[in-house]
Amino acid sequence: MRIVKHIPARDVVTEFKVIAPFLAWDKMLRTAKEEYHRDKFPGCWRCRREFVDGEMTWLGQPVRGGNKLFCEACARAVRELEGEDDE
Ligand SMILES: [Zn+2]
Repeated sequence: MRIVKHIPARDVVTEFKVIAPFLAWDKMLRTAKEEYHRDKFPGCWRCRREFVDGEMTWLGQPVRGGNKLFCEACARAVRELEGEDDE
């Protein structure tokens, strides 16, 4: 008898050195992301929501691997978790 039990995917934890405001999302940024980072997903690395034109993006630099783009909500959420407040 085979019984399938669904196990939720675990959270993936990535250590970041810094996360800072970057650029407003536009066609140029989309092209740069696709061509230089070979990353076709035009959205936030953390919540997987697609960016809309003119939306502010944040750039995170992981300890390992290439830089990631975040939406503002995620950037603020992770900074609050870290207890940072430099505004
Ligand atoms: Zn996000």
